[in-house]
Formats: sequence, C-alpha cells, structure tokens
Amino acid sequence: MRPIIPDYLAEVLGDVESDTSGAPAEYIPELAAAEPERLGAAFAMLGGEIYGAGDIDIEFTIQSISKPFAYALALSDRGFSPVLAKVGVEPSGEAFNEISLDSKTGRPLNPMINAGAITVHSLTGAEDLTPAERVERALQGLSAFAGRQLRIDEAVCASEMENAHRNLAIAHMLRSHDVLTEDPGSVVDGYVRQCSVLVTTRDLAMMAATLANRGKNPLSGEQVVSEAVVRQVLSVMFSCGMYDAAGDWATQVGIPAKSGVAGGLIGALPGQLGIATFSPRLDGHGNSVRGVSLFERFSSDMGLHVMEVPAASRAIVRSNHVVGHGPEALRVLQLQGGIGFAGAERIVQEAESISPSDIRVALDLTRVHSIDDVARRMLLEVARRLTLNGHDVYLVDPESVIPDPKPGDGGRVTLLDDVNRAASHTATVGGGQTG
Ligand code: GLU
Repeated sequence: MRPIIPDYLAEVLGDVESDTSGAPAEYIPELAAAEPERLGAAFAMLGGEIYGAGDIDIEFTIQSISKPFAYALALSDRGFSPVLAKVGVEPSGEAFNEISLDSKTGRPLNPMINAGAITVHSLTGAEDLTPAERVERALQGLSAFAGRQLRIDEAVCASEMENAHRNLAIAHMLRSHDVLTEDPGSVVDGYVRQCSVLVTTRDLAMMAATLANRGKNPLSGEQVVSEAVVRQVLSVMFSCGMYDAAGDWATQVGIPAKSGVAGGLIGALPGQLGIATFSPRLDGHGNSVRGVSLFERFSSDMGLHVMEVPAASRAIVRSNHVVGHGPEALRVLQLQGGIGFAGAERIVQEAESISPSDIRVALDLTRVHSIDDVARRMLLEVARRLTLNGHDVYLVDPESVIPDPKPGDGGRVTLLDDVNRAASHTATVGGGQTG
C-alpha cells in the first residue's frame, strides 16, 4: 500500500507550489539569498513517526521559531515569577521588531516579539552564566527539543549582526528600563546566535511534537521541560505567535504556532502532533506565504482547529441494569470511553438516581480506556457517598484505569477484575481495599 499521509502532504504541496507571491526576508542579506522555491512540510506524531514531503531535510536558520523554545527554557531555568516579572503575555498587535514596551508595566508585551525575546534570551540558563555559556545553554536546549545536536550558521549570524541596529536599539531601550541588566550588545549577539541555529523541517516538526507531547521528545524520550511550562508556552504561541496576524491565525487556523523569517513555520496541536512547513517567501507580516496556506489547508482538511468542538462522544454510561435477584441483586453502571469532567457529571447524575433498596452497586470500568484527574476524583466521591448511604460499592477495573482507588473518609470499595465476580461476591472489604 502506498503511504497515505506522505501522499496527502505531496498533494497539498502541489496545490500551493504555484504561489510565488511574497519575498524572502531582505534585512538579513544571507536570508535574501535563500532559494525561494524551497518547499516542504512534515508531521511528527507523538509516537515518534515523521511523515514528510518536499524539502524536509534542507537546513535553514530557525530565527523567531527559537522564541517559544527559549521562553520554555527560561521558564524552566529561572521559574515563572522572575520571567513573568520581566516579560508580559499580552498580544501586541504590532510587528515583530516594534520598538515598544507596555506603557503601564514598562515590560515587553510578550516573549514572541523581539523586545520580549531579547529579554528572554538573557533569562535562559543560570543567572551567572557568561554570554557564551548562555548561547550554549540555548543551543543545547533547542537540540533537546529537536532530539539531535544542532549547530549555529555563523554566516547568517554575522550577516544579521552587521545589520542589527534595530535589535540593538530595542536592547538599549530595555537596558535603560532595567529590564535588561547585562550589556545590551552581548545580549543581542546571543539572541542573534540563538536565531541562527540551523534546523530542517523535520527537526521543527519534532520540536513542535515535543510541545504537543507535554514537553517529552517523542523520539529521545527526554522530558525537556515540564507540563506547566508547555501550557504557558502554547498559550502564548496561540495568542501572540503570528505577530500582528495573530487574530486572523487564531480564527482561521487555530493551532498554536510560530513563524520565522527564514521561512519556517511550526504548529503544535496538544496531544496530537507537531507540524512544520518551510517556504522562504514572506508576506507583509513576516510569515511564510505558502506556509500559511499549507496550515490553512491542514487545519480545514483535518479539523485541527483547537476550538473545533469534538464529535459528541458515545454515552459514557453504556448501561444501567440489575443482575441477579433478592439480596444478591447487583446494580451495574457500565461505563465506557474516556471520562472527563462532563462524562463524570453524567455518572454522578446516574448514581444519584440509584434507589436505596439497590444495596449492591458496581461501577464497571471494563470498557473505560482513560479517566482524567477530576473525573477520577468525582468517581471516587460517588463511591464514598454511595457507601455513606448504605450501599456496598464494587469497582470493576481490570485494566487499573484508577490505580489504588481510595474513596476517602467513610468510603469503601471492593476492587474486582470481572463484573461476574461482583455478582457472586457477598463480603465487602473496608477502607478502600481490594477484594
Ligand atoms: N533574527 C530575527 C530578528 O530578530 C528573527 C525575526 C523573525 O524570525 O521573525 O530580527
């Protein structure tokens, strides 16, 4: 069988290929010389598979796509408070290189515009690092996200530094407000090095997949940053990742994303996949023209918008019935699927309607494949309250969807592997034990 996903990717690339509008970034001479026809797209799945089509192994500089990852490293290395004290999280609606600070707080508005990203670079690694050590920390951190050792393109770096007047102006402004405490020139130099790290479309897809996978690289298995850091980073990507086009992007594509002026674009879909595209011609916002079109296609073809309301899941309570007669009778709530808050609420309603005369009650989780934390706690509370109301409660959980169930104060459950065993079981073991 021909592989389905690469065929799909090749087809979509074919559809956008003829669009030659826009131009490679000109303010960095080395980027202006980029081969404008390059085009590639890759999906990295959370199981580690990568599907791609086009130029997915050509290296180019990461540029602004380094910003969310550097932000993740700074949050990880310094903690949230010191970073949030220096860089806000509000969308700016401004161009990426706007020389601006929040008029009320005096901080850069967010970590995705240059003022914020330059500050964030200064917050990566421990406080006492030298500028060169800080660059090394950023490089190693980006490499961990990619799952391979990355390197810096010295030519692009030198080319940008020769023309870095605007970023230097931003850094001096930051220094004058004490947002930066180090030498502005060295920080800009480090930030430009961070932007000059070479990546392929394949690397970028894997970096995005690491964010989509709660901070764990799907290939290396390394937990690069914590889940809390990933949530912060994805939120900021969603609201601020596409510069002054962030609102259009949020409504039309709806995937937390980040673009770079070398033509790369990434999207991270929590719990699903990382996406990357590469095409050097940029639109007026500094986003890759064909990259934006590709993401629009992916989002609509595959329903990837994060605000897409999921198809109504099958009823969580599959059945509510009684087996056996007399004192042996057992009321069974047979549950199914993945249970979150809304599903747990259905179970609570069902449990509230159980008659006091149904002494023996089984919550059958045999067909439940996952349960999130709030639903687990709600289910255990159901078990506790049923016990307090005089019921004998059985939890049928052959796959240990709820490991070590403890219903808490006054609650008791008998843990079983098979609902038929509950039907013949008479004694209840106390204190949330197995039976
Ligand atoms: N090195 C670039 C700059 O700061 C990154 C900009 C971008 O990729 O948007 O100007």
